Amino acid sequence: MSSSASNNSIPRFIEPRKFSSMDVRLCGTIPESELKRLMSTASLVKSVYADLHFYIDEEGRSVAAGCVKAEVAVQCQRCLDLVTKELDSKVLWAMVWDDADEKALPVRYDPWVVGAEQVDLYSMIEEELLLEIPVVAYHDEMCIDKTQFASSVEDASGTESETTNNPFREALGGLKSSLKEPK
Ligand SMILES: [Zn+2]
Repeated sequence: MSSSASNNSIPRFIEPRKFSSMDVRLCGTIPESELKRLMSTASLVKSVYADLHFYIDEEGRSVAAGCVKAEVAVQCQRCLDLVTKELDSKVLWAMVWDDADEKALPVRYDPWVVGAEQVDLYSMIEEELLLEIPVVAYHDEMCIDKTQFASSVEDASGTESETTNNPFREALGGLKSSLKEPK
């Protein structure tokens, strides 16, 4: 019955409409063993953290606002090693009874279909994080030798001056022949 924030783990099954009318704030972590769908897509580096405030908005809607966070390891598409990505999603959910209600929502809200019974909060949080996982991920730093990249890019665009001497091609030719000659 308390409206104070709890810092332990987030409960899985809740009654969100009741929480909104009671002005409840939930913050805490979710054990990764409970997030099967998320774990099958990426591996978690840190536990999922959520901070959600349930309240009634000015227009009488039951809403939940806050954030969900996680750190996952996904494959870098440049070097194929693992790269850690931080997921940090701002959440603004408005509870609706069904899909028809959804259409009447102001655009700032994401609909959350909630009946009178308990709902699975974990699956809602999981959904949110799955959307945040980058489809294609790279290391922030240049994880493959820069010179390899530069030469392949310039090779591909080397159509401009076939007529006169192309200093780049000359240099490349020189480099190639020098590589063949044993020292
Ligand atoms: Zn990489």
